[in-house]
Amino acid sequence: MSKMKSFILFILALLLVCHFPVEAGNHLWEPSHQSSLTHARWAHFDNHRRTSTSPWPNKLIPICYGNLEAERELGPYIKAAMDLWYAAGLPAEYKIQRAHHLKCVLERPDVLWVYIDPGAFFSSVGKEKPKENPRRGGPVAALHISHNQLGDPAANIAHELGHAWGLLHENHNPVFWAPNNFDKVFKFRCDHLADFDDKIMGLQQWEIWGHDGICRSSEAAMKAQFSAYQYLPIHDAVSKHGWYVTEDDVDWNSIMMLPSWVGGNHRGSPLFHLDGGLIGANLVPSAQDVEGIRHLYEYRLSYEAELLLNDPRAFEYSLFRQYAPGCGH
Ligand SMILES: [Zn+2]
Repeated sequence: MSKMKSFILFILALLLVCHFPVEAGNHLWEPSHQSSLTHARWAHFDNHRRTSTSPWPNKLIPICYGNLEAERELGPYIKAAMDLWYAAGLPAEYKIQRAHHLKCVLERPDVLWVYIDPGAFFSSVGKEKPKENPRRGGPVAALHISHNQLGDPAANIAHELGHAWGLLHENHNPVFWAPNNFDKVFKFRCDHLADFDDKIMGLQQWEIWGHDGICRSSEAAMKAQFSAYQYLPIHDAVSKHGWYVTEDDVDWNSIMMLPSWVGGNHRGSPLFHLDGGLIGANLVPSAQDVEGIRHLYEYRLSYEAELLLNDPRAFEYSLFRQYAPGCGH
């Protein structure tokens, strides 16, 4: 436990009350050659706030498939995806198991509903509470094997399972952004997002680029259902890391990292290294991805005090979910 206390970063993600399908985020960790005790960083939802999500009890995600086709098609990939997590170091006690059909019917809020949706690719972050989206009634994962975010079906689903366990995207960490959400360790090109042209139609410049514009504020982007919310920082997050981070503090190896080649339009990619270099896709979880999940499920009592920092808006938020960039919705 004391070792875990040396982890530097805590991000509290906040859940936006959304009434549209969203997806749970990616998230990154540092390469295993570095000490995970001194360089660990990750983003997961804040379990100590009155949020609308929570960790899964007993490190178990019970899943129900929407239909037989979903089970037949997605089942093997979900297993392969969990094997990627185990290979990266996630203990075997973390399990995803098919729930009894009665549980699926009678205990909907306590299961992850997995279904095929060729037009979307997203998952709830953690055990989303039903009040956040009464129509869904509980946590969901909309998956399909043709999604090409990472270029590999098992890797794509491993990324989504990272969300299902509770992880967010590395780039949601506000310490990686300069004031007013300008570039710091990433180079973000909002006008390169696939849905930029559609979303700015009819908007004034300040509604796009202003402090609360859809290219600057994750809340505004979320409200507009604009994919920028997958990139912009979640400022209702707390970091012990401080603001003195550099590119070296980013876990570029995380499976929760968004590679440059997804989510862009004819102008180019939306996210780069600060020097303009492309961010590659990671096909397996990193050591710090695993640490992030373990922190949420095993060490959450160790950081309660840190979570009580500056977060005036936190209680207004419920669940953060996100669309996967580059998906065909
Ligand atoms: Zn994601």
